[in-house]
Amino acid sequence: MTRPVRVRFAPSPTGPLHIGGVRTALYNYLFARRHGGKMILRIEDTDSQRFVPGAEAYIIESLEWCGIHIDEGVGQGGPHAPYRQSERREIYLKYALQLVDAGWAYYAFDTADELNALRAQYEERGKTFAYNASVRERLATSLALPADEVRARIERGDQWVVRFKMPADETVRMHDLIRGDVEVNTSTLDDKVLYKSADALPTYHLANIVDDHLMEITHVIRGEEWLPSLPLHYLLYRAFGWEATQPEFAHLPLLLKPTGGGKLSKRDGDK
Ligand code: GLU
Repeated sequence: MTRPVRVRFAPSPTGPLHIGGVRTALYNYLFARRHGGKMILRIEDTDSQRFVPGAEAYIIESLEWCGIHIDEGVGQGGPHAPYRQSERREIYLKYALQLVDAGWAYYAFDTADELNALRAQYEERGKTFAYNASVRERLATSLALPADEVRARIERGDQWVVRFKMPADETVRMHDLIRGDVEVNTSTLDDKVLYKSADALPTYHLANIVDDHLMEITHVIRGEEWLPSLPLHYLLYRAFGWEATQPEFAHLPLLLKPTGGGKLSKRDGDK
């Protein structure tokens, strides 16, 4: 059964809406209109460090100015409200812990200072530190520590994060509506943080997948800068058991600045 088309524009309020963001919003809007679907505006404001006051109002005003009409979302309401991720924070912990219970994620207790020291040690040896299968069973994680110590640390209020347990050596096969088939080996990827106890907030990856699922998004149309995150996103859908309703993905090529007659992606399409 084909589902009704639902797309979303999901900006982070970290500054003014730039032309790349407008292009992404426009493609989503046109795709929704073409297929009689819904255009959703979700504000992804879980990165408290990068939050810029006033950016959300600016984004909404810019979309209105461009004539891009939002059917559902921040400023409009709808069946999946709230659409601002900071107002959905209690949803995400449950999903992070579900992944830990299922063995797809784990607790990590390393402090920022410890991680900085590790990075420096690796650098001294001419290497780059990556949090992955080669270290996760040797560091302060729930994969290495006894279960009662993990519980004790959490109970006494030590700070922790939940990290995704990236499979050590697996080829993830993905499909992008623009690029076609894409393959990546997981040995090139690290164990991304999904949730942080320090601010009781998810990171982009977890919140984005959980919300796309709960908001019944059918197509994710976004900038190409998110393509490197796609293997993790595929694996998150698998880890949650949501593959049957996983959205289709389309990563839009970056907009290039005109450089005086050089290659211009816009012109390539005109021939
Ligand atoms: N919040 C992300 C951004 O600022 C959204 C990326 C996505 O569409 O998945 O671009």
